Amino acid sequence: MSATILIIEDEADLRTLLRHVLERAGYRVLDAATGQSGLRSFYECRPDLVLLDVGLPDTDGWTVLQRLREMSAVPVVLLTAHGSESDKVRGLDAGADDYLTKPIGRSELIARVNAALRRNQTGQPELNDTFTDGPLMVDFVRHEVTLDGVEVVLTPLEHRVLVALVRHSNHVLSPTQLLEHAWDNPSGVGPERVKFVVARLRRKLAGVALAGPVITTVRSFGYRYSTSSAGADHRG
Ligand code: CA
Repeated sequence: MSATILIIEDEADLRTLLRHVLERAGYRVLDAATGQSGLRSFYECRPDLVLLDVGLPDTDGWTVLQRLREMSAVPVVLLTAHGSESDKVRGLDAGADDYLTKPIGRSELIARVNAALRRNQTGQPELNDTFTDGPLMVDFVRHEVTLDGVEVVLTPLEHRVLVALVRHSNHVLSPTQLLEHAWDNPSGVGPERVKFVVARLRRKLAGVALAGPVITTVRSFGYRYSTSSAGADHRG
């Protein structure tokens, strides 16, 4: 079965060219012109590799990459502008597998895509699909949260805040970092909104009182999810 590749690129000509080259090489191709529609396609179709333009008109490529990494180890190849060395470093730091510099050569494109797919098949550890800590289980793929097996109904925003917190367990995330992780459009959203959502999330998670999950407020820094083994193991 041929691999499916998702192209997220706003330039229509380039998108068409990439699609054409990849289809001729035998791949199944999906494409999207914006970050948001790209993420939607990803959730729905679970492609085997993502070609991601860094400069997108809505959600920028960095945010898209972060979202992808929060839920998947899918190989991501970044499309970067010519000469932007810092983009490459930043991209690889942020979890991209490789990058291609525009203008993109056909044979280089195929070679990089093949290599990234091959690396992924030969035993790179997959990111966990779930996070478990005491009674809490977060399923990143199915977007479900349970406490002692009972489903906790969260809004998509509350879910994304929780995912960001548990992905960074035992580390403090500032309101700004939480905004970047969880909000589609963080500009114009203030820290009091973050506080409000965290408070609501806490209330919903407080269902199991004894050893329930703990989101602490670290005064003037932000919020931290503490795993039970890190924070609560000596509580009597
Ligand atoms: Ca672009």
